Amino acid sequence: MRNINKSISAFKKSLELLPGGVNSPVRAFKSVGGNPLFIDKAKGSKVWDIDGNCYTDFVASWGPMILGHAREEIVEAIQKAAKKGTSYGAPTLAENEMAELITSMVPSVEKVRMVNSGTEATMSALRLARGFTGKDKVVKFAGCFHGHADSFLIKAGSGAMTLGLPDSPGVTKAAAADTLTAEYNDLDSVEALFSEYGSEIAAVIVEPVPGNMGVILPKPGFLEGLRDLTNRHDALLIFDEVITGFRLAPGGAQERMGVIPDLTTMGKIIGGGLPVGAYGGRKEIMDMLAPNGPVYQAGTLSGNPLAMAAGSQMLQILNDNPSIYNELERKAARLEEGLRERLKETGTPGVINRIGSMMTLFFTELAEVNGFNDAMTSDTEKYARHFNASLDKGIYFAPSAFECTFISDAHTDEDIEKVIQAFA
Ligand code: PMP
Repeated sequence: MRNINKSISAFKKSLELLPGGVNSPVRAFKSVGGNPLFIDKAKGSKVWDIDGNCYTDFVASWGPMILGHAREEIVEAIQKAAKKGTSYGAPTLAENEMAELITSMVPSVEKVRMVNSGTEATMSALRLARGFTGKDKVVKFAGCFHGHADSFLIKAGSGAMTLGLPDSPGVTKAAAADTLTAEYNDLDSVEALFSEYGSEIAAVIVEPVPGNMGVILPKPGFLEGLRDLTNRHDALLIFDEVITGFRLAPGGAQERMGVIPDLTTMGKIIGGGLPVGAYGGRKEIMDMLAPNGPVYQAGTLSGNPLAMAAGSQMLQILNDNPSIYNELERKAARLEEGLRERLKETGTPGVINRIGSMMTLFFTELAEVNGFNDAMTSDTEKYARHFNASLDKGIYFAPSAFECTFISDAHTDEDIEKVIQAFA
C-alpha cells in the first residue's frame, strides 16, 4: 500500500486555512473519496507526491501540460524572462510575439487580448459580444463550463457538475435571467430559444468539443447549425477553446472541424503552465475594446512577461512540430483501443468518447453518450473505485467522472500499456 501520511497531515492543515482545503474545488477529491495528494514535483509524464510516490499523470494540470511537465525549453524561457524582471505594466515585445503566434495559428483570430485565466477570457468575450451587438442574452449549453463568472454558472459542467452545484448561490436572478440554456447536440433546443428571444440574443457560447461533462463529440452538422443560426439572427458565435485550443490541432477545434466562430476564448495550453487566458476574433469586433472602443476590460498582470515567455515557447513548439499531433493521436488511439478490449473482457458496461488527446470513459449502460443527460447516467461510484484503484497502481486520473483524460507528448508507449494492464 502507498504511504500518503504527509499528504494526510498537509490536508488536515490546509482544511484549517483554505475553504475545503483547496484553491479550486475538484482538487479536494470530494466525489472520489480519499485524501488529495499534495504534489511535490513533476517531470515529463510523471508527478511525485510529498510522500515520494510517483504517478503517471493524465490530469496534466487539467489540460495545459500537453508537452508534459517541466519541459526544458519552457523552463528555460521562464528563467530567462524572470532575470529581466517579473512585471512592468507596460508593453513588451513578448506580447507581440505571442499575438503573432496566436493570430497565425487560430483561424478566427485577427486580433487578440491577453488576460490571466480562462474565466477572464469568457467573461470578457461575453461583455464584448454584448457591447458589439447591443443585446443582452447569451445561450450556453447544459454541462458546458466556461469558468466561474456569474453568467456561466447556470447548468454548469466541470466541478460544479461533479459537486452537484450547477447553479451557484450568489448569482443574481437578473444575471441568471440573461443566460438561456440549450442542450448540446440538439439544434432544435437552440432554434427554440432563437424563436422566442431571437432579437435579444447577443451570443451563443459553446465548447466546440465539450470536455467539462466528460468528452462529448459534436454530431455532424451541429456546429455548422450553430454557425448558421447565429448568422441568421445577428448573434455572435463564441467558441470556448480553453481546453480544445492548440490541443485538437494547432488551430484548435475550429481548424479541425472547419467551423469558424466570431470570437474564440483560450486558456490552459496557451500559458505553458502559467496563468494565462486570451480572447480574440475579427478586427471589427476586437476594436470595440478600450482604448480603441467603449467596451472596458483591463488587467494589471495581463501579458505578464513570464507568462508570455512560457506561452510563446509552448505555442512555438506546437507550431513547429505538427508531428506531435500525430503522435498524440497514435498513443491516445492505443489507449482507447486497449481500454475498450478490457471493458469487453471484463463485461464492464462503458462508453469511451475520444477525439485526439482528450478522452473520457463513462461507466454507463448506454450505447452512446452525446450530451449532458447521457453523461449524467455515468456511475460515479464505479468511477471512484476505478480512480482509487488506479492511484494504487501509480496512475493519476482526474478526481471526477466528468473530466478528460489528457494524453501528452511526454507519455511513452510504456505509460499507455501500463494503464491498459492496470485496468484489467
Ligand atoms: N472554459 C473552459 C472550457 C474550461 O475548461 C475552463 C476551466 N476548466 C474555463 C473556461 C475556465 O478557465 P480557468 O480555470 O483558467 O479560469
